[in-house]
Amino acid sequence: MGDVLRGTGVVAGIAIANAKVLSGDLTGYLNKYNAGTPDVESGKMTEAIKAASAELAQLIATAKANSQDSQADIMDAHYTMVNDPGLAANMYGKIEQGTAAPQAALTAAEEFATLFDSMPDPYLRERAADVRDVGRRLARLLLGVGHIQYEAEAIVLCAEEIEPSVAASMPEGPVCGIVLGKASTTSHTVIIAKARGIPTVAGLGSSLTRIADGTAIIVDGNTGQVLLEPTPEQLAEYQHKAEAEAARRQQDAQLAALEAVTLDGKRIQLAANVGSPSDMTAARKQGAEGVGLFRSEYLFMGRAVPPSEEEQFAAYKEVAEQCGSQLCVIRTMDIGGDKPLHYLNIAKEENPFLGWRAIRISLERTDLFITQLKAILRAGAFGKVAIMLPMIISTAEITAARECVKQAVAELRMEGKAFAPDVPLGIMIETPAAAVMAQQLAGECDFFSIGTNDLVQYTLAVDRGNPAVSSLYSHFHPAVLALIDNVVKAGHNHNIWVGMCGEMAGDPLAAPLLTAMGIDELSMSAPSIPRVKAVIRKLEEKPIRELLEQALALNEARAIRRLMEDYISGQ
Ligand code: PEP
Ligand code: MG
Repeated sequence: MGDVLRGTGVVAGIAIANAKVLSGDLTGYLNKYNAGTPDVESGKMTEAIKAASAELAQLIATAKANSQDSQADIMDAHYTMVNDPGLAANMYGKIEQGTAAPQAALTAAEEFATLFDSMPDPYLRERAADVRDVGRRLARLLLGVGHIQYEAEAIVLCAEEIEPSVAASMPEGPVCGIVLGKASTTSHTVIIAKARGIPTVAGLGSSLTRIADGTAIIVDGNTGQVLLEPTPEQLAEYQHKAEAEAARRQQDAQLAALEAVTLDGKRIQLAANVGSPSDMTAARKQGAEGVGLFRSEYLFMGRAVPPSEEEQFAAYKEVAEQCGSQLCVIRTMDIGGDKPLHYLNIAKEENPFLGWRAIRISLERTDLFITQLKAILRAGAFGKVAIMLPMIISTAEITAARECVKQAVAELRMEGKAFAPDVPLGIMIETPAAAVMAQQLAGECDFFSIGTNDLVQYTLAVDRGNPAVSSLYSHFHPAVLALIDNVVKAGHNHNIWVGMCGEMAGDPLAAPLLTAMGIDELSMSAPSIPRVKAVIRKLEEKPIRELLEQALALNEARAIRRLMEDYISGQ
């Protein structure tokens, strides 16, 4: 029996193929390269920049033609980098000093990447991979080394990290799985894999070196397991699972135009979580009913100054318009925690997740907050928007935020700008304090959306991003379920709707319990919508009420999860 390696499943699904290990090592080619005079090398560099620009323009056009918006955006950023005068000056300067053109491209890109690496903003840190990628593209062109050649045969790409341009140029067919040594869930490669639904396991660390090129491999993106040289029994078992998944996906996709409604008529709104207007293409394709979480902080990241009211307005308006008559819930900036912003000068904190973040920043930096509120209210004139406050722990925060909304309204009136005066104001329930005090909070706001990603980490005191404690992190923990149940009841007592926008909302295993509790809306990353909808459409009130009672009587997250697995497999 072969090895089983363990990582984190970042894109669900099963892939079975031979490993294609990408080492990306150009050393041999660099050693054999015959460098000319600086003038000759400069000329080659100019040609390489032109060729790289043409390659990227082609990739952008192909991605746009296939509605792969996020890939087009990434390649667009690479196009800008390859033509960046600062990068060019650095490369030509090195050539002047006697460095061969391919090495100059790699060294200059590395210098820029190191700058990005040291930035506190995780978004900017991720850009280091992009600039290294651009340097390698130029070096490859100069060395005459082609990109990976794909054959018709299916492969699992295995690498420490896959350059975003390599990920973006993967043809639709052959790459059926991805295995990464690094553990980044926000890297561009993972974003692309998610958008394409390619089963992916990340965070294998040093065990990645146990995968040799050509090894038969099974990638289980559901459990984070990677099986090497599987036995005939394992192969048969996973082939069966993969076939069942493919058949189910095909069936689920046919539900896009149908409602998420149980057999006895209980209707649940299935909305999408988005981070930018470009995510709306996938949201619409999967049949999302509006947006339940627009993570507005992404507009604030990766830049030197905060976005202006006009910039924010343009983004909110675009998403609101694309939602048509459906609601678009815009969460006010959730900065801090794992999303620091260098221009806010957040002092180094011992516990950033317990520090100056989200609503706490907004209520101190009311200049930024009111600007954002004005942009949201203005977008409300073009669609149905709602404001959602993150990280609430008290009614006083809601009262203070309402004062800021009043101020924003007053300013917009003075400025004579069009806006929606009655935009609903809701809160995220993502702290244990908010979940326990849901009765009091419900009297002060128009809706709740439960943020299980943070609620789980704060309730269980388990860091959501720390692989060492990830086995303890579960939204099926009885304490978490009891809090969610309390929140739904409290919301309904006060006649407000209760939704959920944490990862639990997109977990098909959780859907029966949440439906039984009476959840009104589930908001998730778009590819999860069809599966959750398929599960909901088979639910019936009486059995799921009994199931909920059974689950709430259990003491262990693992036992509850098993109960749900059994239930879903029998559905
Ligand atoms: C959550 O905490 O569940 C949530 C949706 O917010 P984020 O993941 O952006 O912290
Ligand atoms: Mg959160």
